[in-house]
Amino acid sequence: TKDRVFNFAAGPATLPERVLAKAQSELLDFGGTSMSVMEMSHRSKAFDGIIKKAESDLRELLSVPSDYAVMFLQGGATTQFAAVPLNLVEPGDSADYITTGSWSDKAFKEAQKYCRARVAWSGKSEKYTKIPAFEAIEQDPHAKYLHICANETIHGVEYKDYPTPINKDAVLVADMSSNFCSKPVDVSRFGVIYAGAQKNIGPAGLTVVIVRKELLGKAQPVTPVMLDYKTQAEGGSMYNTPPCFTIYMCGLVFADLLEQGGLEGIERKNKEKARILYETIDVSGGYFRCPVEKSVRSLMNVPFTLENSELEKVFIEEAKKEGMVELKGHRSVGGMRASIYNAMPLAGVKKLVAFMKDFQARHP
Ligand code: PMP
Repeated sequence: TKDRVFNFAAGPATLPERVLAKAQSELLDFGGTSMSVMEMSHRSKAFDGIIKKAESDLRELLSVPSDYAVMFLQGGATTQFAAVPLNLVEPGDSADYITTGSWSDKAFKEAQKYCRARVAWSGKSEKYTKIPAFEAIEQDPHAKYLHICANETIHGVEYKDYPTPINKDAVLVADMSSNFCSKPVDVSRFGVIYAGAQKNIGPAGLTVVIVRKELLGKAQPVTPVMLDYKTQAEGGSMYNTPPCFTIYMCGLVFADLLEQGGLEGIERKNKEKARILYETIDVSGGYFRCPVEKSVRSLMNVPFTLENSELEKVFIEEAKKEGMVELKGHRSVGGMRASIYNAMPLAGVKKLVAFMKDFQARHP
């Protein structure tokens, strides 16, 4: 068969080949059912086994405490931008947002419709290249939650530690879409964690939501039933038809991550991939540049530019010819971006850095 490309897309993104092959082997006959997971009832015994195993494997991977609900929902992380305030606060309540890039800014704007959302810190004037020092965050002592985006997919800034809400009764909420399951996380520090699947854990169509159970049952009366965490948690994510095949695929990824030894090992691999890529940028004498402050550079999304921006198109085209695709930066920031999620092998990053060095030599 033709070699697969190294796909540096930000999401939907590359998946482990082992997982794709396993899905292929089970496609026409899942576990002796003589049908595909795509075709089976979500109320069937076979699917019940699939969703329960996906949940228990995810709980094991992230050491999710038993007082947290794990839900497999639809609507993408974008739907959670509304679901979070709808479930956690009343319209008159205050909620703090730290805006470190486009995604947390979108979350803030959506929340403004449902509560008194305020910006506790913004990185906009510094072009979203930083994560705030925690003392610099101007929290409202009455805010009911503090919302962060753990990893900004477009700007490439990532929290290495997490702030704590100053209101003791408030909770920390995190959008972990683009670094979910890339490293161990102390779930107990958060009230809500949510993540779209299509970067690190599977195909598009599924959003994982992990919620501390004491927060359930407080949704605003106008909350659409599909967005009500209590209904979804009590219904085992099956209030309506869930995205069955995507849940199955994510389950295969979770099992694969466990087989690899869990998230500590994955984090080590991710750090090594990121290290060689940032190092190549930093030793290029300004030929390649990454604008992000070094201490908060993302392990997942590496944005960079060329000193001579006219060469960026050539870079992207030549890389594509060599089997490295989707290196174009987000349309809002330009330049390049290499997304190096869990499923990007070290060999892919090694090939990219060799290409970068060669490119620099050929186009001085
Ligand atoms: N948050 C982050 C950090 C993201 O990267 C994305 C998608 N790129 C979203 C939210 C929106 O996710 P979705 O497309 O699943 O709604």
